[in-house]
Amino acid sequence: MTIGASDYDVAVIGAGPAGATAARVAADAGCRVLLLERAVLPRYKTCGGGLIGLSRAALPVGFDVPVRDSIDRFTFTLGGRLSRTWQTGSPVIDLVYRDELDAGLTALAVDAGAKLEEGVTVNGLERAPDGATMRLRTSAGEVSARAVVGADGTSGRSGTYVGVTLDQIDLGLETEFARPDPAAGDWAGRILIDWGPLPGSYGWVFPKGDALTVGVIAARGNGAATREYLAAFVDRLGLTGTPELRSSGHLTRCRAEDSPVFRDRVLVAGDAAGLLEPWTREGISFALRSGKLAGSAAVRVAAATGENALGFATAGYRAGVESVFGAEMRAGRAFHTAFSRRPAWFHAAIATAPPAWNVFRRFVTGETTLSRLASHRAVDLTLRALS
Ligand SMILES: Cc1cc2nc3c(=O)[nH]c(=O)nc-3n(C[C@H](O)[C@H](O)[C@H](O)COP(=O)(O)OP(=O)(O)OC[C@H]3O[C@@H](n4cnc5c(N)ncnc54)[C@H](O)[C@@H]3O)c2cc1C
Repeated sequence: MTIGASDYDVAVIGAGPAGATAARVAADAGCRVLLLERAVLPRYKTCGGGLIGLSRAALPVGFDVPVRDSIDRFTFTLGGRLSRTWQTGSPVIDLVYRDELDAGLTALAVDAGAKLEEGVTVNGLERAPDGATMRLRTSAGEVSARAVVGADGTSGRSGTYVGVTLDQIDLGLETEFARPDPAAGDWAGRILIDWGPLPGSYGWVFPKGDALTVGVIAARGNGAATREYLAAFVDRLGLTGTPELRSSGHLTRCRAEDSPVFRDRVLVAGDAAGLLEPWTREGISFALRSGKLAGSAAVRVAAATGENALGFATAGYRAGVESVFGAEMRAGRAFHTAFSRRPAWFHAAIATAPPAWNVFRRFVTGETTLSRLASHRAVDLTLRALS
């Protein structure tokens, strides 16, 4: 197969939430868009598939979200102990299978006019000598585009090309269990969050109707201890011996505050840019929102004929990323540092104090954000004291 020599205005690498969104936005603006995806869709992605309020708000209007369960009960434990369940009254998180969500978002990009090439891996990119286009070397041949959105996730090529720098890397491990025995718990509409034994770690149980996703996340570099945490967590849940559909692991990465988000005519978005909430490692809303910004900026990059216009377009993208995510990630780092040092304090507050639980609930629904919370003097002082 060949992807042809014809030039595109915008080439997007990766059809996750960031890439599918960027491709749709650029195609909607009238650009000739090529969306390159290494896998064949629908493809599996290690992810809890939890859509918090910010994620739902960032989805395209009218998008038929493939919801597998909606959550109105939260159980919190600390290392499997001190269990407390809160009710929210109405659903506050939707749970999806990522293969279904991402295939749906990609279909919207194709409907908007983007050309999708699946099973095509981008192996390298370089600026053409004329400066006006980028050349992409792919498993299906070479292609050029006036702008590139790198949305190829945590281990893609585009982050390396741009020189993205990171200040937090974590390893997430997940097992999907088929049709859990009712004796293993009443999970419909309920998620469990366990504050874990390793600094900054936590575990989760996310029900998906016919399956349960059980996962843990901790700083990279503690692979054996993270696997032990998952095994002990699964055992405590009474799921040992339940048929496993799949077990997998994936990194999450948070950008350093001064990390670049572009180089030449390449803009990075989502995980490729290290855009992720450092405390909860929520990344779908970051991917959707940065995909939207990158898609719009790519339209301007594609239209830029000289270095000045290109500089304006890329600086605009950097400013957009800082304005949407800068304060949010700074606050997330502060929460992550305090949580890493004092998980028991966080558990005591959220599990036993209704005001703290209510703040957590409002963060999940999107009524408040970590940056708004951290801007309160009392919260700021508490986080500093805990850290
Ligand atoms: C264990 C775990 C649980 C998580 N749970 C949640 C959760 O519940 N809620 C939440 O909001 N976030 C969660 N996240 C984070 C979330 O999964 C990511 O932040 C999100 O997937 C980022 O989307 P993306 O589009 O940037 O990248 P991805 O979804 O990773 O998409 C990148 C795409 O690029 C493709 N690709 C890669 N390299 C190439 C290449 N060279 N050429 C062509 N294509 C390429 C890949 O195949 C992939 O389809 C979790 C992460 C982990 C690890």
